[in-house]
Amino acid sequence: MSAATVPSALASAGAGGPAGPLSVLRPDEQPDCPSCSCCTAALCAKGATHELGCVQFSNPAARETVRGCPCSAPDKSGTVAHRTVLELAVQHAAELPLDAETETVLRQLAGQRQSATARAGAGTADSFSRTVLRTLRTWRYVTTSEPGELLVTDAGRRYLAARAGGAA
Ligand SMILES: [Zn+2]
Ligand SMILES: [Zn+2]
Repeated sequence: MSAATVPSALASAGAGGPAGPLSVLRPDEQPDCPSCSCCTAALCAKGATHELGCVQFSNPAARETVRGCPCSAPDKSGTVAHRTVLELAVQHAAELPLDAETETVLRQLAGQRQSATARAGAGTADSFSRTVLRTLRTWRYVTTSEPGELLVTDAGRRYLAARAGGAA
């Protein structure tokens, strides 16, 4: 049991006087956001109101940490970033659409998701050309789920709808 040294180390680290109640947090000790592991709740609330998300409001030192914050990401519906990519998708479809190959892949992925969700491996990143995937990712039309499955985002669907002549 060599772990006996740990409790004493902790005790001396915390020996800065009696701990205050949680309600008197200093500004730099705001509560963590319950939905992500990178931000305070206040930062995420603010991040959701800007198209660049939490990065826009974080201090420079924390920027890399919060860059991928899911709470203010374009995939998260209800955020300004999400609204912005949807608007961009419509504009993109109308003014300078994807090349035919890329658009076909996007359409395939979108259809696959709706019909045969059980087809294992059908939409993994390996089945499509890198260039096509890079383009689709840049536009945020696809995202990769945990098992490596490609998912079409809301923006991707909005793009396809706009291309099909649907109203925005
Ligand atoms: Zn968050
Ligand atoms: Zn955040």
